[in-house]
Amino acid sequence: MQAGTASLVTTMDRLASGAFKADFPILQQQVGNKPLVYLDSGASSQKPQVVIDAMTKYYCHDHSNVHRGVHTLSQRATHAYEQARQKVADFINAPSTDDVVFVRGTTEAINLVANSYGASQLQAGDEVLITALEHHANIVPWQMVCERIGARLRVLPINDCGELRLDQLDALLSSRTRIVAVAHISNALGTVNPVAQIVERAHALGVVVLVDGAQSIPHAKIDVQALDCDFFCFSGHKVYGPTGIGVLYGRQSLLQQMPPWQGGGDMIRVVTFEKTTYADPPLRFEAGTPDIAEAIGLGAALDYVSAIGLDKIAAHEKALLEYATAQLSSVPGLRIIGTAAHKAAVVSFLLKGIHPHDLGTILDAEGVAIRAGHHCAMPVMQFFSIPATARASFGLYNTMTDIDALVAALHKARKLFGL
Ligand code: PMP
Repeated sequence: MQAGTASLVTTMDRLASGAFKADFPILQQQVGNKPLVYLDSGASSQKPQVVIDAMTKYYCHDHSNVHRGVHTLSQRATHAYEQARQKVADFINAPSTDDVVFVRGTTEAINLVANSYGASQLQAGDEVLITALEHHANIVPWQMVCERIGARLRVLPINDCGELRLDQLDALLSSRTRIVAVAHISNALGTVNPVAQIVERAHALGVVVLVDGAQSIPHAKIDVQALDCDFFCFSGHKVYGPTGIGVLYGRQSLLQQMPPWQGGGDMIRVVTFEKTTYADPPLRFEAGTPDIAEAIGLGAALDYVSAIGLDKIAAHEKALLEYATAQLSSVPGLRIIGTAAHKAAVVSFLLKGIHPHDLGTILDAEGVAIRAGHHCAMPVMQFFSIPATARASFGLYNTMTDIDALVAALHKARKLFGL
């Protein structure tokens, strides 16, 4: 056996056995006197000790403000912050750190693009194309800018499996389309969208594409150059990093054209009362003191994920999804919402006779944490004519035993309801 194969087997075995749970202090607790089974990583993943340690070390030894100081601590803080930017660039294969803007999260990244690129490029009568399975973060900012400018928001529909109706893409992409904004993976349904194909078809018409990578960043190797997207955004907290930090990757030629969207310190070149000139990207878009510790924590999270290997994490989660789909399908009255051929790490479902919110509460008493609600994707719920779903979502630390615990808790819930 070659060394590479041996290490692949070992890591896959460790993923399957849940050995990585030991890296996550929060997972060592009991909820409702039962071992915590965390199946809500789609909303936010937990943090390994190395991320917590990186942030603590920074605050204990290196903290000062970045970019402006000559003293040792400021230099250390600046170095660590900019090193985190390099780690992000490497992780998503961005051509340069200049293409990586630190923001608070996916929501802020999309608002930045809508308010800077969108507001400066769109004209009345232009169109922005989104899809029917977007998170509110990739709907509302576009709606707001379209309303302001008199542009039109158009929506690529989905089919009953929760897949994009690509047969309608050419009809919806018109000479008036300026921007396509699409989720890489749907948070409500788990559908993996063919974004590279959408980029190709949009680019053929000269249309710029933003990919919302909030749900793909922890589950798939991202290569922004291979995807050829113009913008890609994600949140640190979904990829085992801290809250309060996220990334906007932008094609450098576009970032260069874009006006700042917030003014303040760090984003300027020269300020006089008559006129201010702005810094180059990425600093042009990072007004004020950034989330320094959070950026460093994100860098540590990306190192952690890279050391395990996204290919192995993806393979493990695929096995979990297949097992969960089979096991859940055997529960009487359970209906899976979202049955796309290509899915990742999310199962949304309804259990006949029990409202998803009640289900969430009953499962919590069994130590099983799932999410119940509209998942900030109300139009998806409207499409399926349902108010909410229960959703289990997986991370690298989950195991088939976690899914068994979910299924056992569902059977218990049915009994409680006399079903
Ligand atoms: N897009 C998608 C697909 C998401 O799943 C989420 C988070 N649920 C967001 C955007 C928004 O991310 P954040 O709240 O971290 O800004």
